[in-house]
Amino acid sequence: MAGEPRSDCLFCKIVSGEVPATVVRETETTVAFRDINPQAPTHVLVIPKAHHADAAALAAAAPDVAADVLREAGEVAAQEKVAETGYRIIFNTGAGAGQTVFHAHAHVLGGRGLEWPPG
Ligand code: 5GP
Repeated sequence: MAGEPRSDCLFCKIVSGEVPATVVRETETTVAFRDINPQAPTHVLVIPKAHHADAAALAAAAPDVAADVLREAGEVAAQEKVAETGYRIIFNTGAGAGQTVFHAHAHVLGGRGLEWPPG
């Protein structure tokens, strides 16, 4: 069922505490934690606590929580002091776009120059 935790999902295990992570922010509906393989000086993942496969599925099933994720991405950028210099919020969606974990997550990247278009 949409939103229910999945025993085979890595990010559901981070939400439950079964898999450790360096959590930088937490709300009733979201968790933000450092990416294990950072691609920039700031690389934080913001996820909904409920399981949704990707950003589009999250927005369709729980638009208020999708808004929470975006708001928290901005809060992370401010907390990490990258908001003033600029940062990027990325939702890789689908394996062809590089999504490897099928629990919706926003990458918050900052602290270095960011090329456009991204690779
Ligand atoms: P995706 O490729 O799905 O857009 O992003 C998944 C992200 O999760 C990758 O950037 C990857 O480094 C990160 N990741 C994978 N496994 C773990 C883990 O166990 N802990 C943390 N903190 N990040 C992880």
